[in-house]
Amino acid sequence: MIFCIYFDIKKGLGAYYFSLKLARLFIKSSQAWVTLATNDSYSLGALVLAHSLKRVGTTRRLVVMVTTGVTLVMQDQLRAVFDEVHLVDVLDSKDAVNLALLARPDLGITFTKLHCWRLTNYNKCVFLDADTLVLQPCDELFDREEFSAAPDPGWPDCFNSGVFVFRPNEDTYKSLLSLALSKGSFDGGDQGLLNTYFNDWATRDINRHLPFIYNMCSPSHYSYLPAFKQFGEGVKIAHFIGPNKPWSQYFDSETKQVRPSPTAGHLKYLFQFWWDLFCAHVHPHLSPDMAGLASAFSQMKLGEPSPAATVELQEHLRRSAWEQGSMDFMGADAFDNIWSKIMDTVNKGPNK
Ligand code: UDP
Ligand code: MN
Repeated sequence: MIFCIYFDIKKGLGAYYFSLKLARLFIKSSQAWVTLATNDSYSLGALVLAHSLKRVGTTRRLVVMVTTGVTLVMQDQLRAVFDEVHLVDVLDSKDAVNLALLARPDLGITFTKLHCWRLTNYNKCVFLDADTLVLQPCDELFDREEFSAAPDPGWPDCFNSGVFVFRPNEDTYKSLLSLALSKGSFDGGDQGLLNTYFNDWATRDINRHLPFIYNMCSPSHYSYLPAFKQFGEGVKIAHFIGPNKPWSQYFDSETKQVRPSPTAGHLKYLFQFWWDLFCAHVHPHLSPDMAGLASAFSQMKLGEPSPAATVELQEHLRRSAWEQGSMDFMGADAFDNIWSKIMDTVNKGPNK
């Protein structure tokens, strides 16, 4: 008799734990990391981001939203890494608000990001810009509620829209679109619009303020270097905001070392980490049939002296980094080289 009760309890407990496990599994499969890529160059960022999430052993699903600006070959590659590649096509939208938005090309990228609220197969999601990089496990973000985000370093009463927790919902999507039409975005991008929509974020509930370590924006390391030195090790997600993206840094394919300007300081290690993941997981699967930087990088042979085409590419990247204010002071842009170029030009005299 006692024996039977013992077995009944054991069976009952077993079933209880089993259903608990199932419930947990269900919750996890209804939660996802979401990113966006509208072209092949940003897809490189999305791919590295996905590998950075896998590296830290996330249990949530990986979703990338793409537009037709991403080549089919790249979409295949994204499909191999993400659990879901979700094609968002602005022209597919049939309702009046969407059509009106089509007449506002300035809201193009903003519009595309808002599509994340339409991923209603999922219950809760965390959006990550394609220029973010996950350094440490951070699945605990899914314990937060809509709308959670970290302060923007430029104006900390606004949140930065590169990392945010949200709940997909068609109604929210529609309200956001109406707001975009009626008021527009005060900065022309998604961040201005979202800050207007979730305008009580700064004051309502401190739990909706993500700690800065979940969205450490790249300029912070020089605008407040002592804090970066003190807290930098705790950073979980780095965000390369502005024009200095990891993929536009000077990269020496022979040594596999990134060579950003010396002013990049501690960021160099983050850039290098991005390139390490790129070399290990992304580069082997690139194809010349891809577009933009992805196609150019596919020609790069890692660990070998660079062929002419790659040298040309490196030169182009170096030049665009220069134009964006990040110079290769120690290398091609060194003072000696610039000085000899000036002297060369001066000695040649004026063109007749
Ligand atoms: N994005 C994109 N294609 C573009 C520009 C932006 O797919 O041409 C996406 C991408 O996910 C990117 C996000 O929109 O991370 C926001 O843009 P970005 O990160 O360049 O803005 P920042 O963080 O520098 O303000
Ligand atoms: Mn960004």
